Amino acid sequence: MSNKISVGHVHMSGCTGCLVSFADNYGGLLTILDKYADLVYCLTLADVRHIPEMDVALVEGSVCLQDKTAVEEIKETRERAKIVVALGGCACYGNITRFSRGGQQNQPQHESYLPIGDLIDVDVYIPGCAPTPQMIRNVCVMAYLLLKGNDDQKKLAAE
Ligand code: SF4
Repeated sequence: MSNKISVGHVHMSGCTGCLVSFADNYGGLLTILDKYADLVYCLTLADVRHIPEMDVALVEGSVCLQDKTAVEEIKETRERAKIVVALGGCACYGNITRFSRGGQQNQPQHESYLPIGDLIDVDVYIPGCAPTPQMIRNVCVMAYLLLKGNDDQKKLAAE
């Protein structure tokens, strides 16, 4: 069994600012976690078409209900990831996608864009627009301890 955790970045509707933070962090992950994490899914960085089984899915953006592919993709992510993380304000609570599209600022578009927690169970929320690379890194470390650590580390990470 691999001693690394597999991490994926799943992109819904957002501005990709979270991805920039994630990419910054990925440099940090390479340095700090090097031996501990594999990036197995990220459409921007690798040509992988189907969502694979993975330990941690970092989901950026809210879900556009009019886009059936997006709705299927978020459900598939839940089925295939052990830990689903809502990465950033759009994934956590809708953020700009709910309040600034297709009309005046602050005009709600609740019927079109939903935070991912309205459609699937979410294990961890990382707020922020965009979240800091440090927060993303900390969640990855926690996930590593939870999935690969010894019993004490698993208990600590679960608290
Ligand atoms: Fe962009 Fe902020 Fe939404 Fe991330 S949370 S996708 S940075 S608007």
